[in-house]
Amino acid sequence: MQERVLVTGANGFIASHITKLLLEQGFAVRGTVRNPSNLEAVGFLKALPSAGNLELVSADLNDEGAFSSYTEDVDYVIHAASPFFIDVEDVERDLVRPAVRGTVSALEAAAKSTRVKRVILTSSMAAVTDAPDDRVLTEADWNEKSSAKRNPYYYSKTQAERAAWAFINRDNIGFDLVVINPFMVAGPSLSTGISTSNQLFIDIANGQYPALMALNWGFVDVRDVAQAHVRAMTAPNAKGRYICSAGNMDMHQITDIMRSAGVRGKLPFFDMSGQLGTAAMKLLSHFQPSGIGSYLRTHLGSVPHFENSKIRRDLGIEFRDVEETICDTVNDLIEWGHLSV
Ligand code: NAP
Repeated sequence: MQERVLVTGANGFIASHITKLLLEQGFAVRGTVRNPSNLEAVGFLKALPSAGNLELVSADLNDEGAFSSYTEDVDYVIHAASPFFIDVEDVERDLVRPAVRGTVSALEAAAKSTRVKRVILTSSMAAVTDAPDDRVLTEADWNEKSSAKRNPYYYSKTQAERAAWAFINRDNIGFDLVVINPFMVAGPSLSTGISTSNQLFIDIANGQYPALMALNWGFVDVRDVAQAHVRAMTAPNAKGRYICSAGNMDMHQITDIMRSAGVRGKLPFFDMSGQLGTAAMKLLSHFQPSGIGSYLRTHLGSVPHFENSKIRRDLGIEFRDVEETICDTVNDLIEWGHLSV
């Protein structure tokens, strides 16, 4: 019998790749979106090969029991929907509540069904650390420092993942929870929309960064993140959390790749990535919107170090090279018309 998967936020950057991969592998997918009749948001999903096996239903993370009527006949749930914004007006309303309530609703819906075998939660490196330091991050690490004022998006992801583990540790839960913790996700988009993570490249080209800064990210390709979710769903030995990141790249390297690809605009030239420049940038960050300011103060000058052996061993993930991912992202943004050459 064909197995069915509930994918929440199916039109999102990551979830649309998960949906595509599931359809390619012969699963039936029930995808939740805010409004299934908004063709601008979901038309590209309906045009996927095997979209005959895709059903779109409506759900909002803020609604009680958002997913309760969608799980009776599904075998797996992949909960990917969550607000992804670095700066918001109201942290509780715009980030924490939908992230936590949505996660609990997805788990409650799974618990209502006798058929769901496993729930995969898209968490984040944001639930692993508030700010990278010299330590090598593993699945045992938890973000203990973020708050509504300090890296609020990180706080929302940490609270949501903690709520998920608290839920699953209750008695009589008849399914497993497996959590994927991706670092910065880049790669080609299946739709014209720009994800918050790919927005980085556009911001660099548009002169949002006045200078080259000491910023370094752990990156992972969206196609590998999708693969990790699908393998986490079916691999019998999948268990616990999985750090999902391929390698690092800094702002200098990204800007060089963009320049080589012929990207025009206001690519930063002036180098403020040394110690003095970093100190100056941290001071200037106080004039930025609060979420961006706290991100800069906690990330400038640090390089994330992480261990990805668990996901490679248990799920057999062979990560694409970060340079390939960044080149593909830049070319994709050019093709969609978001970057000019
Ligand atoms: P995305 O493209 O913004 O996708 C987010 C999805 O969540 C969208 O489908 C969005 O729907 C949905 N959503 C947000 N608020 C909602 C609400 N109140 N009700 C219903 N749906 C709502 O972002 P993404 O990068 O694919 O992120 C997907 C997941 O990966 C998130 O959990 C994010 O925290 C996590 N993650 C992302 C990265 C990254 O670098 N991209 C890294 C680590 C973890 P609309 O389209 O209607 O807004």
